[in-house]
Amino acid sequence: METFNFLLQQTSLKSTPQRLAILKIVEEAGHISIDDIYKKIKKGFPSISLATIYKNIHSLQKENILSEIKIQNQKSKFEIKKKPHSHFICNRCGEVIDIDIKYRCEIEELEKVGEVTEKEIYLYGICNRCKEMSKIVTTSTK
Ligand SMILES: [Zn+2]
Ligand SMILES: [Zn+2]
Repeated sequence: METFNFLLQQTSLKSTPQRLAILKIVEEAGHISIDDIYKKIKKGFPSISLATIYKNIHSLQKENILSEIKIQNQKSKFEIKKKPHSHFICNRCGEVIDIDIKYRCEIEELEKVGEVTEKEIYLYGICNRCKEMSKIVTTSTK
């Protein structure tokens, strides 16, 4: 909480209880959609509206505190901005996992065609947990 207070003080945003609550929810979840933030925050702030959450998320994003993960066929998720990293997204359970890929050579290759401004890679597949689960299902039905 203290660190979020500090983070907000570095920006033009006021440190409001709602903003702190949003940041805490995002931090705990890792990656979370606005709908899920809304569901969780309602417990502490029953009268908060979805529009307020959208507005807050938007300004936190503009101040570089949150970053958006745009996912194919899913609503965007948000996370606390940290050092650049890539994401693995499970097509089955929707889990978003942080990954650190060394892609320096590929970036050099890309720079031949233009300036790279965002070094984020999205990978889609089946996470290990889902892979394990499908194994259990197929062996138990035999
Ligand atoms: Zn999965
Ligand atoms: Zn991430």
